[in-house]
Amino acid sequence: MHQKPDGDAMGSALGLYHFLVALGHDVQVISPTNWADFLDWMPGVKTLVDYERNREKALKIIGATDWLFCLDFNVLHRTKHMEKPLSEAKCLKILIDHHEQPQVAAFDYGVSITSKSSTCEMVYDFIMASGHAQLLDTTMAQCLYTGLMTDTGSFRFQATTASVHRAIAHFKDLGLDHRQIHEEIYDNFLESRLRFIGYALLNRMEVLYEYNTAIMFITHADLHKFDIKTGDTEGLVNYLLTIKGIRFGAICIDRDEERKWSFRSKGGFDVNTFARKHFEGGGHFNASGGRSSDSLENTVLKFKQVIKEYQNQLQ
Ligand code: 5GP
Ligand code: MN
Repeated sequence: MHQKPDGDAMGSALGLYHFLVALGHDVQVISPTNWADFLDWMPGVKTLVDYERNREKALKIIGATDWLFCLDFNVLHRTKHMEKPLSEAKCLKILIDHHEQPQVAAFDYGVSITSKSSTCEMVYDFIMASGHAQLLDTTMAQCLYTGLMTDTGSFRFQATTASVHRAIAHFKDLGLDHRQIHEEIYDNFLESRLRFIGYALLNRMEVLYEYNTAIMFITHADLHKFDIKTGDTEGLVNYLLTIKGIRFGAICIDRDEERKWSFRSKGGFDVNTFARKHFEGGGHFNASGGRSSDSLENTVLKFKQVIKEYQNQLQ
């Protein structure tokens, strides 16, 4: 899975883990970094190896494995410090992913379907097509539901097809308690995170009406002041798109090692191309991310400069 795994990365990896274990395989899931507390309830999470905390063990696993499933990312640098060991690994590498423009040469086999709602949906399809569909149980369903829910914005985005709802109906038939998953993911924060959101909306948001764009920037001091942890800023960018008429939302966070962008759009503005072209990033048409090594101030200034090229597209 990719670094700082989200619900889809974690859900697809653990969903596949439980399925392969049920088939009798020896399976190990590795995360390139730590993850948000709100994913810590997921079945199997205790077996995960965090590459940054346990590099030796992770490298041993990568060196000994026959098959390596790469889930919810399609370029090796999305695994941060694992890029080199993964590119040098001798095993068969299988991609299952839904992001734009996969680094095809890095994988031996793969399914890349950008119209899919989530990697969790693709793992569900994989299980259904495997000839062992009867092995699907509520544990796998809990994992897969998580990514289907988070990557579709709780079943609202365009990619929420009838097939997505049929998969959910299947999970419900198996006995899945979906309410518990919503609460674990969305109602599990500390007071400081909610205060931080209020502070950021009041003090760190700018609306650029001439471009139908809203931006937000979070300083290093802000992160410190509210004791913001991995996952606490997830979803913040979506508030920007709730303003009437706003079609492009961008948030820049001053992390230790880089300035990290999240981009979201509504309708015809392609934030995958925008992120690739200006901020070394990528992702999906309406949701992407990027980065910069420059200061927060300069990174935001650059954004305000390059957005001028898109005024026609954004109106
Ligand atoms: P988020 O804003 O939630 O971090 O990311 C939005 C989407 O863009 C996710 O699907 C994520 O995997 C992808 N993404 C985020 N950052 C990057 C990046 O730096 N490079 C690429 N290629 N994709 C990214
Ligand atoms: Mn995904």
